[in-house]
Amino acid sequence: MNILVTGGAGYIGSHTCVALLEAGYSVIVADNLCNGKEETLNKVKQLTNKDLTFYEIDVTDDIAVNTIFSKHEIDGVIHFAGLKAVGESVERPLTYYNNNVVSTMVLAKACLTYGVNRFVFSSSATVYGDNKVPFIETMDLLPTTNPYGETKAMSERILTDIVKANPAFSVSLLRYFNPVGAHESGLIGEAPNGIPNNLMPYVTQVAKGKLEKLSVFGNDYPTVDGTGVRDYIHVMDLAEGHVVALDHLTEGVHVYNLGTGQGTSVLELVNAFEEANGIKVPYEIVERRPGDIASFYADASKAKRELGWTAKRDVIAMCRDAWRFEKNYME
Ligand code: NAD
Ligand code: UDP
Repeated sequence: MNILVTGGAGYIGSHTCVALLEAGYSVIVADNLCNGKEETLNKVKQLTNKDLTFYEIDVTDDIAVNTIFSKHEIDGVIHFAGLKAVGESVERPLTYYNNNVVSTMVLAKACLTYGVNRFVFSSSATVYGDNKVPFIETMDLLPTTNPYGETKAMSERILTDIVKANPAFSVSLLRYFNPVGAHESGLIGEAPNGIPNNLMPYVTQVAKGKLEKLSVFGNDYPTVDGTGVRDYIHVMDLAEGHVVALDHLTEGVHVYNLGTGQGTSVLELVNAFEEANGIKVPYEIVERRPGDIASFYADASKAKRELGWTAKRDVIAMCRDAWRFEKNYME
């Protein structure tokens, strides 16, 4: 089966390409390289000893997208391509709505035109807003606090409406919690541009000495130690979740949380990193980050029940693998 992976040169997409190739799928990647690297795809080939096809295109460009659909017999699409910096989305809403929503529409339209019935979408736990924890798929979604979150909620609604009008179309909406870590080889991983916004890449860069110390955003939240709690998930578990979601895809819209169901505080993650790697991570407590929620984690039971999928790798493995990649990674 041929799977079109948009954003396949990025962080989650490249790990999913590995999982897909290892599961026997053929992979076609469409990526404009705005935040991905062709070199990453070479590493994917090296890791799997398998080939893939790459198109450097923008997936909001319907002519370029249609060219791929007309050249290949595509069986399914996994749509990762998107911009993901929350703060930037507040400053550049039009760029985010255009990139993240128009791409979903262009790809869905191409699927309908070419009779492709399988569509897996990268959504985010951010669509739950500040809901009661644990977040469960049956919850009413609350407004998100930024355009990035809105692009995910809108894309979910657009895909849901398309299924209502086209019952043969099958869509899986995968709501990721906090993806971290790297492939166990250390060859591919997360390499953000500039100073990282997210906790784990910040921690690995402090450990490497690229950054002086971690700023812990608040220690007065109503959590186990006052610091923010998130549901960190190993990127390879997440990648494998996509393969399983694709394998199980049947008509209709299917929503799944991809998380571990386990909350970890900032300080717990720092301690786990130090324990896993034997390296100190200096930190200081600073003000809360505006817009942060105290705590969220998944109810991950639906994916287990319906897909037979659960996250297998623990926080120690996430820290060990994130560090292995950071050590190897040369800018
Ligand atoms: P990433 O930036 O590493 O990967 C995204 C890839 O998409 C990049 O390679 C980029 O070049 C490409 N891309 C972006 N816009 C494009 C366009 N218009 N046309 C073609 N290619 C384009 O990000 P990631 O962390 O791998 O995230 C993948 C998806 O998962 C995104 O949709 C993101 O919103 C979603 N997501 C990520 C997280 C997270 O914490 N990383 C959490 C929840 C959801
Ligand atoms: N965080 C932190 N320092 C940082 C980055 C993040 O203390 O430099 C905290 C943040 O406040 C949150 C947790 O780490 O409680 C996870 O943040 P991240 O940005 O990785 O994920 P998100 O908040 O988007 O779920």
